[in-house]
Amino acid sequence: MTVTAEAMNTAQTASLSPALKQATPVVVDHAQGSWIRGTDGNDYLDFTTGIGVTSTGHCHPRVVAAAQEQCTKIIHAQYTTVMHQPLLELTEKLGGVLPLGLDSVFYANSGSEAVEAAIRLARMATARPNIIVFQGGFHGRTVAAASLTTAGTRFSAGFSPLMSGVHMSPFPYAYRYGWGTDAAVDFALRELDYLLQSRVAPNDTAAFLIEPVLGDGGYLPTPPRFLEGLRERADRHGILFILDEVQAGFGRTGKFWGHQHASDLTPDILITAKGLASGFPISAIAASTELMSKAWPGSQGGTYGGNAVAAAAAVATIDVIRDENLVENARVRGEQLLTGLQEIAGRFDAIGDVRGLGLMTGIEFVKTDAADVPVPDAAAAAAVQQATTRHGLLTLTCGPAGNVVRLIPALVVTEDEIALGLER
Ligand code: PLP
Repeated sequence: MTVTAEAMNTAQTASLSPALKQATPVVVDHAQGSWIRGTDGNDYLDFTTGIGVTSTGHCHPRVVAAAQEQCTKIIHAQYTTVMHQPLLELTEKLGGVLPLGLDSVFYANSGSEAVEAAIRLARMATARPNIIVFQGGFHGRTVAAASLTTAGTRFSAGFSPLMSGVHMSPFPYAYRYGWGTDAAVDFALRELDYLLQSRVAPNDTAAFLIEPVLGDGGYLPTPPRFLEGLRERADRHGILFILDEVQAGFGRTGKFWGHQHASDLTPDILITAKGLASGFPISAIAASTELMSKAWPGSQGGTYGGNAVAAAAAVATIDVIRDENLVENARVRGEQLLTGLQEIAGRFDAIGDVRGLGLMTGIEFVKTDAADVPVPDAAAAAAVQQATTRHGLLTLTCGPAGNVVRLIPALVVTEDEIALGLER
Protein backbone atom coordinates (compact mmCIF):
# COMPACT_ATOMS: atom_id res chain seq x y z
CA MET A 1 0.00 0.00 0.00
CA THR A 2 1.32 3.47 -0.83
CA VAL A 3 0.64 6.52 1.30
CA THR A 4 -1.33 8.94 -0.82
CA ALA A 5 -0.53 12.62 -0.88
CA GLU A 6 -4.01 13.26 0.52
CA ALA A 7 -3.23 11.18 3.62
CA MET A 8 -0.20 13.33 4.46
CA ASN A 9 -0.49 16.85 5.73
CA THR A 10 1.96 18.83 3.67
CA ALA A 11 0.47 22.19 4.63
CA GLN A 12 1.72 22.21 8.20
CA THR A 13 4.96 22.22 10.13
CA ALA A 14 4.92 21.37 13.85
CA SER A 15 6.68 23.09 16.73
CA LEU A 16 7.59 22.00 20.24
CA SER A 17 4.84 22.49 22.83
CA PRO A 18 5.40 25.35 25.33
CA ALA A 19 5.48 22.68 28.06
CA LEU A 20 8.80 21.55 26.53
CA LYS A 21 10.43 24.76 27.74
CA GLN A 22 14.20 24.23 28.12
CA ALA A 23 16.55 25.92 30.55
CA THR A 24 19.42 26.48 28.08
CA PRO A 25 19.72 27.08 24.32
CA VAL A 26 21.92 23.98 23.96
CA VAL A 27 21.00 21.35 21.37
CA VAL A 28 23.07 18.16 21.72
CA ASP A 29 25.00 16.80 18.79
CA HIS A 30 26.69 14.01 20.73
CA ALA A 31 27.92 13.31 24.26
CA GLN A 32 30.50 11.22 26.08
CA GLY A 33 31.22 10.84 29.79
CA SER A 34 30.77 14.24 31.48
CA TRP A 35 30.73 16.15 28.20
CA ILE A 36 28.11 17.32 25.71
CA ARG A 37 29.02 18.67 22.27
CA GLY A 38 26.35 21.13 21.15
CA THR A 39 25.27 21.66 17.56
CA ASP A 40 26.81 25.12 18.10
CA GLY A 41 30.20 23.34 18.13
CA ASN A 42 30.80 24.13 21.82
CA ASP A 43 31.72 21.58 24.48
CA TYR A 44 29.70 21.74 27.70
CA LEU A 45 30.69 20.16 30.99
CA ASP A 46 27.45 18.50 32.02
CA PHE A 47 26.59 18.79 35.72
CA THR A 48 22.92 17.98 35.03
CA THR A 49 23.13 14.41 33.63
CA GLY A 50 19.59 14.59 32.25
CA ILE A 51 18.40 15.35 35.83
CA GLY A 52 20.48 12.72 37.57
CA VAL A 53 19.95 9.97 35.01
CA THR A 54 23.16 9.28 33.06
CA SER A 55 24.90 7.83 36.10
CA THR A 56 27.80 6.14 34.28
CA GLY A 57 28.26 9.23 32.10
CA HIS A 58 26.93 9.78 28.62
CA CYS A 59 27.15 6.76 26.31
CA HIS A 60 29.38 4.59 28.49
CA PRO A 61 30.87 2.05 26.03
CA ARG A 62 29.75 -0.97 28.10
CA VAL A 63 26.18 0.33 28.42
CA VAL A 64 26.06 1.11 24.69
CA ALA A 65 27.40 -2.35 23.82
CA ALA A 66 24.87 -4.09 26.08
CA ALA A 67 21.96 -2.16 24.56
CA GLN A 68 23.18 -2.72 21.00
CA GLU A 69 23.57 -6.44 21.56
CA GLN A 70 20.13 -6.70 23.17
CA CYS A 71 18.58 -4.93 20.15
CA THR A 72 19.75 -7.79 17.95
CA LYS A 73 18.06 -10.38 20.22
CA ILE A 74 14.71 -8.94 21.28
CA ILE A 75 13.66 -5.34 21.92
CA HIS A 76 10.30 -5.84 23.61
CA ALA A 77 8.54 -8.81 25.14
CA GLN A 78 5.59 -8.19 27.44
CA TYR A 79 6.11 -9.97 30.74
CA THR A 80 2.48 -11.07 31.07
CA THR A 81 3.08 -13.27 28.01
CA VAL A 82 6.78 -14.16 27.90
CA MET A 83 9.67 -13.27 30.16
CA HIS A 84 13.02 -12.13 28.79
CA GLN A 85 16.55 -12.84 29.93
CA PRO A 86 17.70 -9.26 30.77
CA LEU A 87 14.90 -8.83 33.33
CA LEU A 88 15.85 -12.07 35.06
CA GLU A 89 19.51 -11.06 35.06
CA LEU A 90 18.70 -7.55 36.31
CA THR A 91 16.58 -8.94 39.14
CA GLU A 92 19.45 -11.17 40.21
CA LYS A 93 21.91 -8.25 40.07
CA LEU A 94 19.55 -5.96 42.01
CA GLY A 95 19.32 -8.67 44.67
CA GLY A 96 23.03 -8.08 45.26
CA VAL A 97 22.65 -4.35 45.89
CA LEU A 98 19.20 -4.06 47.52
CA PRO A 99 18.90 -3.90 51.32
CA LEU A 100 18.50 -7.34 52.89
CA GLY A 101 14.86 -8.41 53.02
CA LEU A 102 13.80 -6.48 49.90
CA ASP A 103 13.95 -9.57 47.72
CA SER A 104 11.05 -9.05 45.31
CA VAL A 105 11.17 -6.55 42.43
CA PHE A 106 8.52 -5.07 40.14
CA TYR A 107 9.36 -2.96 37.06
CA ALA A 108 7.90 0.12 35.34
CA ASN A 109 9.24 2.82 32.99
CA SER A 110 9.56 6.01 34.99
CA GLY A 111 9.92 7.28 38.52
CA SER A 112 6.31 8.46 38.64
CA GLU A 113 4.98 5.08 37.60
CA ALA A 114 7.09 3.35 40.23
CA VAL A 115 5.83 5.80 42.87
CA GLU A 116 2.28 4.95 41.84
CA ALA A 117 3.07 1.23 42.02
CA ALA A 118 4.43 1.70 45.55
CA ILE A 119 1.32 3.61 46.68
CA ARG A 120 -1.02 1.07 45.13
CA LEU A 121 0.91 -1.74 46.86
CA ALA A 122 0.83 0.06 50.23
CA ARG A 123 -2.92 0.64 50.02
CA MET A 124 -3.65 -2.93 48.87
CA ALA A 125 -1.40 -4.43 51.57
CA THR A 126 -2.77 -2.36 54.48
CA ALA A 127 -6.35 -1.70 53.31
CA ARG A 128 -5.77 1.85 54.62
CA PRO A 129 -6.31 5.01 52.53
CA ASN A 130 -3.92 7.68 53.83
CA ILE A 131 -0.39 8.53 52.75
CA ILE A 132 1.76 10.98 54.72
CA VAL A 133 4.33 12.96 52.71
CA PHE A 134 6.82 15.63 53.82
CA GLN A 135 6.98 19.27 52.84
CA GLY A 136 9.11 19.88 49.77
CA GLY A 137 8.93 16.27 48.56
CA PHE A 138 8.89 15.60 44.83
CA HIS A 139 7.50 12.30 43.57
CA GLY A 140 6.58 12.95 39.93
CA ARG A 141 4.08 14.51 37.55
CA THR A 142 1.38 11.93 36.86
CA VAL A 143 -1.82 12.88 38.67
CA ALA A 144 -1.22 10.52 41.59
CA ALA A 145 2.50 11.35 41.84
CA ALA A 146 1.72 15.08 41.62
CA SER A 147 -0.77 14.61 44.47
CA LEU A 148 2.11 13.38 46.61
CA THR A 149 4.38 16.23 45.53
CA THR A 150 4.71 19.37 47.68
CA ALA A 151 7.86 20.84 46.10
CA GLY A 152 5.99 23.70 44.45
CA THR A 153 2.54 24.53 43.13
CA ARG A 154 3.71 24.43 39.50
CA PHE A 155 3.57 20.62 39.54
CA SER A 156 -0.17 20.46 40.19
CA ALA A 157 -1.76 23.90 39.77
CA GLY A 158 -4.66 23.93 37.34
CA PHE A 159 -5.48 20.25 37.10
CA SER A 160 -7.15 19.50 40.43
CA PRO A 161 -8.84 17.53 41.91
CA LEU A 162 -5.81 15.53 42.88
CA MET A 163 -5.78 12.08 44.50
CA SER A 164 -7.35 12.16 47.96
CA GLY A 165 -5.88 10.71 51.16
CA VAL A 166 -2.57 12.61 50.98
CA HIS A 167 -1.43 14.58 54.06
CA MET A 168 1.67 16.72 54.43
CA SER A 169 3.87 16.99 57.52
CA PRO A 170 6.85 19.38 57.95
CA PHE A 171 10.34 18.45 56.75
CA PRO A 172 13.31 19.30 59.05
CA TYR A 173 14.63 22.17 56.92
CA ALA A 174 17.24 23.40 59.41
CA TYR A 175 18.63 26.25 57.28
CA ARG A 176 15.18 27.78 56.66
CA TYR A 177 14.14 27.55 60.30
CA GLY A 178 17.49 29.02 61.37
CA TRP A 179 17.91 26.12 63.78
CA GLY A 180 20.42 23.34 64.24
CA THR A 181 19.59 19.98 62.65
CA ASP A 182 18.62 18.39 65.97
CA ALA A 183 16.09 21.12 66.79
CA ALA A 184 14.63 20.89 63.26
CA VAL A 185 14.28 17.09 63.56
CA ASP A 186 12.63 17.36 66.99
CA PHE A 187 10.16 19.90 65.62
CA ALA A 188 9.29 17.84 62.51
CA LEU A 189 8.82 14.63 64.53
CA ARG A 190 6.60 16.44 67.07
CA GLU A 191 4.49 17.86 64.23
CA LEU A 192 4.16 14.38 62.70
CA ASP A 193 3.05 12.92 66.05
CA TYR A 194 0.50 15.71 66.37
CA LEU A 195 -0.81 15.03 62.85
CA LEU A 196 -1.23 11.35 63.78
CA GLN A 197 -2.97 12.27 67.06
CA SER A 198 -5.23 14.97 65.70
CA ARG A 199 -6.11 14.52 62.04
CA VAL A 200 -4.85 11.33 60.38
CA ALA A 201 -5.44 8.21 62.48
CA PRO A 202 -2.44 5.85 62.40
CA ASN A 203 -4.71 2.85 61.77
CA ASP A 204 -6.04 4.62 58.67
CA THR A 205 -2.53 5.40 57.41
CA ALA A 206 -0.98 3.13 54.79
CA ALA A 207 2.44 4.72 54.41
CA PHE A 208 5.02 7.43 55.01
CA LEU A 209 6.68 8.47 51.73
CA ILE A 210 9.94 10.44 51.71
CA GLU A 211 13.17 10.95 49.72
CA PRO A 212 16.57 10.38 51.42
CA VAL A 213 17.62 13.71 49.87
CA LEU A 214 14.86 16.09 48.74
CA GLY A 215 15.45 16.51 45.00
CA ASP A 216 13.27 19.12 43.33
CA GLY A 217 12.53 20.31 46.88
CA GLY A 218 15.99 21.90 47.06
CA TYR A 219 18.68 19.22 47.47
CA LEU A 220 18.16 18.86 51.20
CA PRO A 221 19.58 15.70 52.78
CA THR A 222 17.02 14.16 55.12
CA PRO A 223 18.71 13.98 58.54
CA PRO A 224 19.37 10.33 59.53
CA ARG A 225 17.60 10.83 62.87
CA PHE A 226 14.44 11.92 61.05
CA LEU A 227 14.48 8.78 58.88
CA GLU A 228 15.02 6.70 62.02
CA GLY A 229 12.11 8.48 63.72
CA LEU A 230 9.86 7.65 60.77
CA ARG A 231 10.98 4.01 60.78
CA GLU A 232 10.24 3.75 64.51
CA ARG A 233 6.76 5.31 64.15
CA ALA A 234 6.00 3.14 61.12
CA ASP A 235 6.83 0.01 63.13
CA ARG A 236 4.79 1.22 66.10
CA HIS A 237 1.65 1.90 64.05
CA GLY A 238 1.87 -0.78 61.33
CA ILE A 239 2.45 1.95 58.73
CA LEU A 240 4.63 1.11 55.71
CA PHE A 241 7.81 3.14 55.24
CA ILE A 242 8.40 3.97 51.56
CA LEU A 243 11.67 5.52 50.43
CA ASP A 244 11.73 7.29 47.08
CA GLU A 245 15.32 6.68 45.96
CA VAL A 246 14.56 7.76 42.38
CA GLN A 247 17.10 10.62 42.44
CA ALA A 248 19.27 9.82 45.48
CA GLY A 249 19.77 6.12 44.78
CA PHE A 250 22.20 4.16 42.65
CA GLY A 251 25.42 5.54 44.09
CA ARG A 252 24.66 9.22 43.66
CA THR A 253 25.14 10.21 47.32
CA GLY A 254 28.34 8.23 47.89
CA LYS A 255 26.49 5.20 49.29
CA PHE A 256 24.63 2.81 47.00
CA TRP A 257 21.30 4.00 48.46
CA GLY A 258 20.73 7.44 49.92
CA HIS A 259 19.12 6.09 53.08
CA GLN A 260 22.28 4.12 53.92
CA HIS A 261 23.67 7.31 55.47
CA ALA A 262 21.17 6.57 58.28
CA SER A 263 22.51 3.66 60.36
CA ASP A 264 21.11 0.27 59.27
CA LEU A 265 17.52 1.24 58.60
CA THR A 266 15.56 -0.60 55.88
CA PRO A 267 12.40 0.68 54.18
CA ASP A 268 9.40 -1.54 53.50
CA ILE A 269 9.29 -0.39 49.87
CA LEU A 270 12.19 1.15 47.94
CA ILE A 271 11.60 3.03 44.69
CA THR A 272 14.39 3.40 42.11
CA ALA A 273 14.66 4.83 38.56
CA LYS A 274 16.88 7.54 36.95
CA GLY A 275 20.48 6.27 37.43
CA LEU A 276 19.37 2.63 37.20
CA ALA A 277 20.02 2.28 33.47
CA SER A 278 22.28 5.24 32.60
CA GLY A 279 19.57 6.91 30.51
CA PHE A 280 17.28 4.10 29.31
CA PRO A 281 13.76 4.40 30.74
CA ILE A 282 13.19 1.81 33.43
CA SER A 283 12.18 1.97 37.10
CA ALA A 284 11.54 -0.51 39.86
CA ILE A 285 10.08 -0.99 43.30
CA ALA A 286 11.50 -3.53 45.73
CA ALA A 287 9.84 -5.03 48.82
CA SER A 288 9.72 -8.32 50.69
CA THR A 289 8.17 -11.23 48.84
CA GLU A 290 5.42 -11.32 51.46
CA LEU A 291 4.49 -7.67 50.96
CA MET A 292 4.80 -7.81 47.18
CA SER A 293 2.40 -10.79 47.07
CA LYS A 294 -0.40 -8.36 48.08
CA ALA A 295 -0.31 -6.93 44.55
CA TRP A 296 -1.98 -9.47 42.32
CA PRO A 297 -1.19 -9.79 38.58
CA GLY A 298 -3.05 -7.11 36.65
CA SER A 299 -3.14 -4.65 39.57
CA GLN A 300 0.19 -3.12 38.59
CA GLY A 301 2.14 -2.41 35.43
CA GLY A 302 1.91 -1.31 31.85
CA THR A 303 2.84 -2.39 28.35
CA TYR A 304 6.49 -1.32 28.33
CA GLY A 305 7.52 -1.87 31.97
CA GLY A 306 10.87 -3.64 32.30
CA ASN A 307 11.77 -3.26 28.62
CA ALA A 308 14.47 -5.70 27.43
CA VAL A 309 16.92 -3.09 26.07
CA ALA A 310 16.54 -0.89 29.16
CA ALA A 311 17.01 -3.94 31.41
CA ALA A 312 20.20 -4.94 29.53
CA ALA A 313 21.49 -1.36 29.98
CA ALA A 314 20.65 -1.55 33.70
CA VAL A 315 22.61 -4.80 34.07
CA ALA A 316 25.62 -3.13 32.40
CA THR A 317 25.16 -0.05 34.62
CA ILE A 318 25.36 -2.10 37.82
CA ASP A 319 28.49 -3.86 36.49
CA VAL A 320 30.15 -0.55 35.58
CA ILE A 321 29.30 1.00 38.98
CA ARG A 322 30.91 -2.00 40.69
CA ASP A 323 33.94 -2.42 38.39
CA GLU A 324 34.82 1.29 38.27
CA ASN A 325 34.19 1.83 41.99
CA LEU A 326 31.79 4.65 41.18
CA VAL A 327 30.01 4.83 44.55
CA GLU A 328 33.33 5.68 46.19
CA ASN A 329 34.11 8.11 43.34
CA ALA A 330 30.80 9.87 44.01
CA ARG A 331 31.73 10.23 47.68
CA VAL A 332 35.23 11.59 47.06
CA ARG A 333 34.33 13.88 44.15
CA GLY A 334 31.26 15.05 46.07
CA GLU A 335 33.48 16.14 48.96
CA GLN A 336 35.73 17.98 46.52
CA LEU A 337 32.72 19.75 45.01
CA LEU A 338 31.18 20.68 48.37
CA THR A 339 34.48 22.00 49.76
CA GLY A 340 35.02 24.13 46.64
CA LEU A 341 31.48 25.49 46.78
CA GLN A 342 31.78 26.32 50.48
CA GLU A 343 34.87 28.37 49.65
CA ILE A 344 32.95 30.20 46.88
CA ALA A 345 29.94 30.70 49.20
CA GLY A 346 32.17 32.53 51.68
CA ARG A 347 32.73 35.23 49.04
CA PHE A 348 29.07 35.95 48.16
CA ASP A 349 26.32 37.11 50.56
CA ALA A 350 23.72 35.94 48.03
CA ILE A 351 24.66 32.32 48.74
CA GLY A 352 22.75 31.42 51.89
CA ASP A 353 23.54 27.73 52.07
CA VAL A 354 25.58 25.06 50.30
CA ARG A 355 24.72 21.44 51.02
CA GLY A 356 24.55 17.98 49.61
CA LEU A 357 25.53 14.36 49.82
CA GLY A 358 27.97 12.89 47.32
CA LEU A 359 27.28 14.19 43.82
CA MET A 360 23.92 15.73 44.72
CA THR A 361 24.83 19.30 45.62
CA GLY A 362 22.67 22.40 46.03
CA ILE A 363 23.47 26.11 46.35
CA GLU A 364 20.64 28.16 47.90
CA PHE A 365 20.41 31.80 46.81
CA VAL A 366 18.80 34.37 49.11
CA LYS A 367 18.23 38.11 49.12
CA THR A 368 21.15 39.70 50.89
CA ASP A 369 19.06 42.39 52.60
CA ALA A 370 17.02 39.86 54.57
CA ALA A 371 18.07 40.21 58.19
CA ASP A 372 16.69 37.15 60.00
CA VAL A 373 14.69 34.93 57.67
CA PRO A 374 16.29 33.85 54.39
CA VAL A 375 14.21 35.26 51.52
CA PRO A 376 14.48 33.05 48.41
CA ASP A 377 16.09 34.68 45.36
CA ALA A 378 14.97 32.72 42.30
CA ALA A 379 16.24 35.44 39.94
CA ALA A 380 19.79 35.04 41.31
CA ALA A 381 19.66 31.26 40.88
CA ALA A 382 18.37 31.62 37.30
CA ALA A 383 21.06 34.20 36.48
CA VAL A 384 23.79 31.91 37.81
CA GLN A 385 22.37 28.96 35.87
CA GLN A 386 22.41 31.00 32.64
CA ALA A 387 25.89 32.38 33.35
CA THR A 388 27.40 28.93 33.93
CA THR A 389 25.92 27.80 30.61
CA ARG A 390 27.65 30.73 28.87
CA HIS A 391 30.89 29.58 30.54
CA GLY A 392 30.41 26.01 29.30
CA LEU A 393 28.97 24.41 32.45
CA LEU A 394 25.44 23.00 32.44
CA THR A 395 23.58 23.37 35.76
CA LEU A 396 19.94 23.21 36.88
CA THR A 397 17.75 25.04 39.35
CA CYS A 398 15.30 23.53 41.83
CA GLY A 399 13.54 24.21 45.14
CA PRO A 400 9.91 25.12 45.83
CA ALA A 401 10.86 28.79 45.34
CA GLY A 402 13.23 28.02 42.43
CA ASN A 403 16.20 29.56 44.29
CA VAL A 404 18.56 26.57 44.43
CA VAL A 405 21.17 25.77 41.78
CA ARG A 406 21.79 22.04 41.73
CA LEU A 407 24.84 20.22 40.50
CA ILE A 408 24.47 16.53 39.56
CA PRO A 409 27.64 15.38 37.78
CA ALA A 410 27.96 11.85 36.41
CA LEU A 411 29.36 9.29 38.84
CA VAL A 412 32.39 8.95 36.52
CA VAL A 413 33.32 12.64 36.93
CA THR A 414 37.05 13.17 37.40
CA GLU A 415 39.00 15.39 39.82
CA ASP A 416 39.97 17.70 36.93
CA GLU A 417 36.36 17.98 35.75
CA ILE A 418 35.14 18.97 39.23
CA ALA A 419 37.96 21.55 39.45
CA LEU A 420 36.99 22.92 36.03
CA GLY A 421 33.31 23.02 37.01
CA LEU A 422 34.16 25.01 40.15
CA GLU A 423 36.22 27.44 38.09
CA ARG A 424 33.36 27.94 35.62
N1 PLP B 1 10.76 10.79 42.57
C1 PLP B 1 11.84 11.58 42.63
C2 PLP B 1 12.60 11.69 43.92
C3 PLP B 1 12.27 12.29 41.49
O1 PLP B 1 13.34 13.09 41.58
C4 PLP B 1 11.52 12.14 40.29
C5 PLP B 1 11.92 12.87 39.09
O2 PLP B 1 12.65 13.84 39.11
C6 PLP B 1 10.40 11.31 40.29
C7 PLP B 1 10.05 10.64 41.44
C8 PLP B 1 9.60 11.14 39.05
O3 PLP B 1 10.34 10.43 38.09
P1 PLP B 1 9.97 10.55 36.55
O4 PLP B 1 10.28 11.94 36.12
O5 PLP B 1 10.87 9.52 35.90
O6 PLP B 1 8.55 10.20 36.40
